[in-house]
Amino acid sequence: MNTVEFQLPRRDPPVSGESGSDAALRGFRGRCPACGNGRMFGKFLKVNDACPECGEELHHHRADDFPAYLVIVIVGHILVPMVLAVETEFAPAYWVHALLWGPAVLGMTLGLLQPVKGAIVAMQWFLGMHGFEESKGRRAPAATADAA
Ligand SMILES: [Zn+2]
Repeated sequence: MNTVEFQLPRRDPPVSGESGSDAALRGFRGRCPACGNGRMFGKFLKVNDACPECGEELHHHRADDFPAYLVIVIVGHILVPMVLAVETEFAPAYWVHALLWGPAVLGMTLGLLQPVKGAIVAMQWFLGMHGFEESKGRRAPAATADAA
């Protein structure tokens, strides 16, 4: 009886940033999009020039005002319906609105700003935007060699 030997295709260890959502999730958590371990931010919104763990250059990012725009859209879409619902249902005094929504707006915007910026920087890194082309070029051969 003949035995058929199956040779499974050799699979290299996963290339960091295999999918955009993986990279974005690492960025959202404030971690390096390449290794997922090093901290992306040196200060609240200051992206480190390079990952302290793996040395991946991060200074190429051009997030600019996009994180702020995105946070405004997200917070607005969550809070405006809530404000309207509370006003319609209970019609509280204006000071109650200020007491409710002021801290909510502050908390949500400050809480989301860094994660959203991290996700945007990670997506720029993953897509090879701006100065990240070289980094993407280094990753691409490893990813396509597996398919060949
Ligand atoms: Zn890293």
